[in-house]
Amino acid sequence: MSAIRTRFAPSPTGFMHIGNLRTALYGYLFAKSQNGTFILRIEDTDQERLVEGAVDFIEKTLAAAHIYVDEGPKEGGDYGPYVQTERREIYREYAEKLLESGHAYRCFCDPKDKDAHKTDFSGYDRHCRDLSEEEIRAHLDAGDAYVIRQRMPLTGTTTYMDLVHGLITFENSELEDQILLKRDGLPTYNFANVVDDHLMAISHVIRGAEYITSAPKHVLLYKFFGWTPPAFLHLPPVMGKDADGKTSKLSKRHGAVNFGDLIDLGYLPEAVTNYVALLGWSPKGTQEIFTMDELIREFSADGLSKSPALFDYQKLDWMNGEYFKAMDPAKFAALAKPFAGDLPAHIDEKWDYLAGILQSRLAKFSEIPATIGFLKEMPDYALDAFVNKRNKTTVEGAREILPQALPVLESITDWTPDGINAALDPFVESTGLKKGAVMWPLRIAVAGQPVTPGGLTEVLYILGKENSLERYKKSIDKLEA
Ligand code: GLU
Repeated sequence: MSAIRTRFAPSPTGFMHIGNLRTALYGYLFAKSQNGTFILRIEDTDQERLVEGAVDFIEKTLAAAHIYVDEGPKEGGDYGPYVQTERREIYREYAEKLLESGHAYRCFCDPKDKDAHKTDFSGYDRHCRDLSEEEIRAHLDAGDAYVIRQRMPLTGTTTYMDLVHGLITFENSELEDQILLKRDGLPTYNFANVVDDHLMAISHVIRGAEYITSAPKHVLLYKFFGWTPPAFLHLPPVMGKDADGKTSKLSKRHGAVNFGDLIDLGYLPEAVTNYVALLGWSPKGTQEIFTMDELIREFSADGLSKSPALFDYQKLDWMNGEYFKAMDPAKFAALAKPFAGDLPAHIDEKWDYLAGILQSRLAKFSEIPATIGFLKEMPDYALDAFVNKRNKTTVEGAREILPQALPVLESITDWTPDGINAALDPFVESTGLKKGAVMWPLRIAVAGQPVTPGGLTEVLYILGKENSLERYKKSIDKLEA
């Protein structure tokens, strides 16, 4: 069997949609799981869509997702150049071969007259398909601009094997005489793609299902050239859930859909890659958390699904949370820090401790500001925050217990979690109440909200003695007012 070579062939836009990332990832996994080569090719022949710095962006995004390119614009390789606009001479040469063999023809129709040459059924009306030698010569002598079109067979069918969907057959009569080379001398996607996949010795073309209908045109080109087509794997789309419960192609209205936006939201690249790997591919067992090495080991094309995959943000949250829990605490603290914003000095110095509390509680870093906001500033709370059914606490109870605990807190000299507990535990015991019944009102008094990362001790420690007592006394005043 010949070498496995897959490619990711993005157009250079300034973002990486999750669907594209998945295409890249599957191409990478498919190759790496079989000791193959993964190639990056930039498809930039659509000059209107060019974005500056996009190639750099694509390389960086892939690397961030732990997808490593073997051959590409930066890496080089024996099959370059890997940017299509640097290959224009190649496409012209091959388009001319098709002109010679009669599988393509020059079309002099004015693109502005588009409608004049359109049929509802197979696009272009083939006006120039059978021009005589003399007519062609006359146009060329007059210096008329032209495009080169593929001469589709008018009868018969074209069939190809899709390793995801099985055999796919199209009626040739439904295929448009598509443009191969544009007036500006640049190839269309459909032409460049075939020439490049062949010249770059691509063994498996892995891409989105939107290309299922283009593939027969590609297969015919391979045939015209006398080349063996690669194997095709067309991946079903990634969907998002709409407000009405239906699904549609994953887009902005569903939430963040670009790799970079998910990272900005505070998901870990490893978690996103792991999650994306499972969007349309099922491993054999029940394992869900995979390192890249494990993915490479496990991946195989028979686990690819024919049906659309649903992007589930809750599932991603869960998975990212699992990655957080498994992370080295120092690394977590460092990565989480930029999301915390400016912190007052007394919190800043306890960041590692606070991060240790957050690590097991967060789904993504972007939750940090809301989670720790109460530490920066005391929330304006309503008295019924003191009421908690489970701990049987009431506003009246708080009014009683808070002043009693004040001297205990004031007396603490060792303001550390251990020091605080050493003072609070005997106090709780002296009240004869359950621990929760004491902790609840005290925690409300310093946190101003019913849910906090960590319990009373942690909150007191992070706030520091001075800050804690100031908040605490204000709460007593509030209760007495
Ligand atoms: N340039 C195409 C895209 O960005 C590539 C399709 C393919 O892989 O053949 O979707």
